[in-house]
Amino acid sequence: MSTQATRPPDTLRADVNVNKILTTGLAFACHYAAARPDCQVLASVRYGRTALCTSCDQRRSTTGKGTPPIRLPHPHALLQVAAAHDACQQAAAVLRDAVTSARQAGHPWSTVAAILGVTRQAAQQRFAQNSTSERFHDHLT
Ligand SMILES: [Zn+2]
Repeated sequence: MSTQATRPPDTLRADVNVNKILTTGLAFACHYAAARPDCQVLASVRYGRTALCTSCDQRRSTTGKGTPPIRLPHPHALLQVAAAHDACQQAAAVLRDAVTSARQAGHPWSTVAAILGVTRQAAQQRFAQNSTSERFHDHLT
């Protein structure tokens, strides 16, 4: 059994976002990412070619003290963007399901559109599935 199975889903999601940020080269990985359990993984400072997270930077030994730090943009701001994007995608899926349920319950596109604050056409274009029966049904409602 994987140790990840016991971790909360939001932690797993955060790990996925950390990996995405690292693999796309949007941030540096901490030099100790694989070695220290308390490492924050995403680097916030560099000393020459060695990147460190905030936690590992605070634990830094005297080695390399002569090298001036290069502060990196705070990587956790990127995680916040990724988390907000995830939340938007989840909300969009919930909205799609709700619109589908409303349509299946017999509510016309005009009613769904009124709740969404868009035109009937806009609601249909966004949410109608590309099926003949749906298009035929649209003419009736
Ligand atoms: Zn670290």
